[in-house]
Amino acid sequence: MTTARPTLPSDELSLEASSSNALSRPLVLGIESSCDDTACAVLDGEGRVLSSVVSSQLAAHLEYGGVVPEIASREHLRNWPAVRAQALSLAGVALAEIDVVAATRGPGLVGSLLVGLSVGKAIAYGLGKPFFGVHHLEGHLYSPFLVPAPSTSPSAAPASASARAALPDPAHAVPERFIGLVVSGGHTALYSVLSPKAGASAVDTLCETRDDAMGECFDKVGKRLGLPFPGGPVVDRLAELGEHKRGHAPLPARPKAPEPRTLFFRTSRCGDTLDFSYSGLKTQAIVEVERLEREGFVVDPGELMRLSGLEPSALAQSDARASSQFAAIQLLAAFRDAAVRQVIDRLDRYRRSVACSRPADPGPTGPSPTDPSRPKARLAHAPRTPQPIRELGVSGGVAANRALRRALVQWGERERIQVHLVALAFCGDNAAMIAHAALRRHHQGETGDPLATDAKSRLRVG
Ligand code: ADP
Ligand code: MG
Repeated sequence: MTTARPTLPSDELSLEASSSNALSRPLVLGIESSCDDTACAVLDGEGRVLSSVVSSQLAAHLEYGGVVPEIASREHLRNWPAVRAQALSLAGVALAEIDVVAATRGPGLVGSLLVGLSVGKAIAYGLGKPFFGVHHLEGHLYSPFLVPAPSTSPSAAPASASARAALPDPAHAVPERFIGLVVSGGHTALYSVLSPKAGASAVDTLCETRDDAMGECFDKVGKRLGLPFPGGPVVDRLAELGEHKRGHAPLPARPKAPEPRTLFFRTSRCGDTLDFSYSGLKTQAIVEVERLEREGFVVDPGELMRLSGLEPSALAQSDARASSQFAAIQLLAAFRDAAVRQVIDRLDRYRRSVACSRPADPGPTGPSPTDPSRPKARLAHAPRTPQPIRELGVSGGVAANRALRRALVQWGERERIQVHLVALAFCGDNAAMIAHAALRRHHQGETGDPLATDAKSRLRVG
């Protein structure tokens, strides 16, 4: 028995003044709804981001201090029609012109995933086009190769055949092998990615966090200071105002603590493994905030929010009120430094570990400067594709962190490794990265997942 294909509304099928004739095919529609962002994007066959629209649900969850799954699913349902319409309109593409459809299938909140996945499958079925269910992390891993387009801002005017003067740049070529660092609210992990031009790609997990993810750690410290969720971006801006030296930051004196003292945040070691761990750092930061309060500092989140928009020179420390905020800022500067140093430490360990295990392979940059007496780090999972680091892709929400970006660029220069930092526009969850992952799979000759693809709240990558 055959089922009649549902017909799509005619306004979606015929967008006037479509410019898609000039675009390379296939045109890919990507959908992302794994957590609290409803996102839709259109890419052309060369990975050009024709549009990328992200609608944040932060306001709906604000009073709960975190994401409420039931509210998230309802918000996705409510936001989707406008997000889709805007993505198609900005791209200047009609729904009927879409050649490939992709949506995130996991991991994430299952109710949220179901909204995007069901919509994507219905569109693909209605159009008779291939559908790809994409792993959220696969999306992040390839996102450093996306180039943001000027027209991807939601406030930008819709593109039309006549209005689109110049096409955005195509995506950067994806290296055949690279190490992927994903740092986000839910993940802190290193992956080995084998991405051949033809045939299936392979993703191996090299190491993960044992406890909190880096973004989660920033958010919890921000929460303890009374900052709005997610705390990561504000903590980062405040830390920019502070001064520290490798995790050591001087604090101003107070009546209950008349001797100036220096804060120090240690980098978690995790033995000789490659594992990340951020729960100890989070706890230390919270304990230090409590100590500041006992010493008579009065941290004011409203004042911190105001200061987070300022330049360092605007920070007056003269009165007691200002010196309390200054103490919190110093604390955050030292905290952020320790968080970033952990990432650099694990990259160094991985580099040493592979150099030790593969002495015959000097890599493109000549023999490693590794000290042979240093112990080799153990890998959490034996990779199918162990590889020296030649190129590093960095992605996820925390990849927006200013100190992390600076440190990774310096590390790449020092170690002569090409570091691909995700563009700020694609650090957080977005649908361009989902469309890009599907485009790669399409180019590799995959025919698309069956429409029976299920949403999975837990899903291993690779
Ligand atoms: P996930 O998909 O795992 O929920 P995202 O990739 O959407 O995570 O990233 C969100 C996380 O990134 C949040 O924890 C947020 O605080 C963090 N984040 C965003 N910008 C910054 C920044 N500049 N510094 C530190 N953390 C940040
Ligand atoms: Mg994410």
